[in-house]
Amino acid sequence: MMQIAHYLGKDGEILEGVIVGDEIEEISGLDPMLKGGRRVGGKRKLSQVQLMPWGMGRKIVLVGKNYVDHAKELASDVPKEPLLSMKPTTGLIGHGQAIVLPPSSVSKEVHHEAEMAVIIGKRLRRASEAECAKAVAGVTCLNDVTARDIQRAEGQWTRAKGFDTFCPVGPWVSVGLDWSHLRVQCRVNGQIRQDGNTKDQVFPVPRLLAFICAGMTLEPGDVVTTGTPAGVGPIKAGDSVEIEVEGAGVLRNEVRAE
Ligand code: ZN
Repeated sequence: MMQIAHYLGKDGEILEGVIVGDEIEEISGLDPMLKGGRRVGGKRKLSQVQLMPWGMGRKIVLVGKNYVDHAKELASDVPKEPLLSMKPTTGLIGHGQAIVLPPSSVSKEVHHEAEMAVIIGKRLRRASEAECAKAVAGVTCLNDVTARDIQRAEGQWTRAKGFDTFCPVGPWVSVGLDWSHLRVQCRVNGQIRQDGNTKDQVFPVPRLLAFICAGMTLEPGDVVTTGTPAGVGPIKAGDSVEIEVEGAGVLRNEVRAE
C-alpha cells in the first residue's frame, strides 16, 4: 500500500509526494491511477508541511443516506436508488486547516459526517460496475460538514453542505486498500461519535459509481464520497474533529467561529 499526498511547496505551489514514515518525498510523473511516480528527492518532515486536499479543480460528488442506521437516525427511509448531491470545491480544506462556522444568525447547528471518499483514476461514462471498481485510484477521509438546520429547512442540500471550509479531505490518499470493508470513525475532542464500517453501505462503491456515471461523466481526480454512518452530531468552536478511515490515516481539523 502506498500513501500519496498533495502538499504546499515553498513557493506556494502544489506538489505531490509519497509518505515514508514521518517524512514526505516529492514525486513526479504519477499517472491518474496514482501509480508509476518517480521520486525526485526533496524529503521534508510531514509535520512541517501543509497537506492539501484532493479534489481541487475537480468535482466532489456526495451520496446521502447510504448507511441504514444513519437513514434511521434522520427518521427517513433508505433510498431505493443512490441519492446524489455535490459540494463546491471552494469548501475544500486539508488536514490541519480550520473548519469555520458561519455566524449563528446563518446556522446554529453544524454537524460532522465521517465518510470514506474514493478518488477516481479513469474517465467513467456509462461504465459497468466492474469497470467502475477498477477505476478507483485510492481512498481518503472526508468530513461532509453540514449545516443541519439549513438542510432541514430547505429540503435540498447545496447551501447546507456548500459553505467554505465544509469539505475537509485528507490527510492523504491510500492506494491499494480494499474499500469494501473499512472502519469509519469520527471523534470529537477524543470521544467517539461515529463508528461504522463500509461493509454496511446500502450501495457499495461500484454500484454508486455506475449510477453516477450513467448520467454524469466522472473524470480522473474527481472525489466521490460514500455516505456517513450513524452518530452525526453538532460541532462547536474550539472542538477538534477527527475522521479516521481504517488504513487511510486520520484527518484532523479544529473548529472555529468566523
Ligand atoms: Zn454525507
